[in-house]
Amino acid sequence: MKEKYMYDVIIIGGGPAGLNAAMLLGRSRRKVVVFDNGQHRNRWAQHMNGFLSSDGMRPHDFIQKGRAELAKYNVEILEKVIVTATHSKGNFIVNDAEGTMYKAKKLLLATGLKDKLPEIADIETYYGKSVHHCQYCDGWESRDQPIAVYGLNRDGIGQALAMKTWSADVTLFTDGTNKLSRLDAELLQRNEVKLCTTKITGLAGDNGMLQEIILANGERRQHKALFFSTGSKQQCDLGEQLGCEFTSKGVIRTRRQQNSNIPGLYVAGDAARDMQLVIVAAAEGARAGVAINMELQREERK
Ligand SMILES: Cc1cc2nc3c(=O)[nH]c(=O)nc-3n(C[C@H](O)[C@H](O)[C@H](O)COP(=O)(O)OP(=O)(O)OC[C@H]3O[C@@H](n4cnc5c(N)ncnc54)[C@H](O)[C@@H]3O)c2cc1C
Repeated sequence: MKEKYMYDVIIIGGGPAGLNAAMLLGRSRRKVVVFDNGQHRNRWAQHMNGFLSSDGMRPHDFIQKGRAELAKYNVEILEKVIVTATHSKGNFIVNDAEGTMYKAKKLLLATGLKDKLPEIADIETYYGKSVHHCQYCDGWESRDQPIAVYGLNRDGIGQALAMKTWSADVTLFTDGTNKLSRLDAELLQRNEVKLCTTKITGLAGDNGMLQEIILANGERRQHKALFFSTGSKQQCDLGEQLGCEFTSKGVIRTRRQQNSNIPGLYVAGDAARDMQLVIVAAAEGARAGVAINMELQREERK
């Protein structure tokens, strides 16, 4: 094991949640380290939408601006992956992939989620440009277009119905699966959502902009946007390593102040329960930052 570095707070994850927590803790004169390995969830996207004052900004620019704003505080940002995390006697110890050890009184997990993409060849080319998972992030840009929704069996029904807010022309693709009940089919029909259960063999388009969905029967359906509903998972297993409680949706259960079931361990952003938007992640980071500082103040008081 290499050197041990001591901090007031270790933050794992330098997305909007981790950086905003670092901002509040830096401003509270805390010695903070943020670890980040550059996999922020929306790095695929061209634009970050729905964040007041920064609507449409490039996600990369948002992160860089946040990092620059932290430069005047006692906040170190290390581009390293943390592979293990433990807690003992009121301290947290984490190790990077090179085996260096870092210790702190409090730990914030802001490690985010990663999306499970539909198993369609070459879908990464389109992801974040014309293939999306969140209607609040990208529905507006797809308004009044023929929208495809992807979900196996019943998984896409809710999203297909929701997309009617953005376009009258919505088709649910179940990619060769067909476990929909008669009531499901009637619900879709009543709401004028078209259904296609044929297997998808590929996508066609230009420069990441979808034009057609290619089906196993040779048909080519014209769509400019595809929204999928295939779920997401934790970006790393540190929550499990630390013994966090998870909800049935696979996110870490947190209390009002972003605190977890482990004393001194906080969780903010997509990794924790609640809505998955940049502005919400940033707000949760701020809330965790304040709560951590207040806990440290209580411990310091004589
Ligand atoms: C394609 C796409 C487009 C989106 N568009 C929008 C949008 O327009 N508007 C909007 O509000 N939301 C959008 N979102 C959602 C948004 O990306 C998330 O809500 C937001 O990024 C959550 O912030 P976070 O800080 O919790 O996690 P993230 O931004 O995912 O950051 C987590 C960070 O933790 C790091 N990390 C994880 N594990 C470790 C580890 N072990 N060691 C070191 N670092 C680690 C990762 O590298 C990552 O940088 C979009 C998501 C996607 C996938």
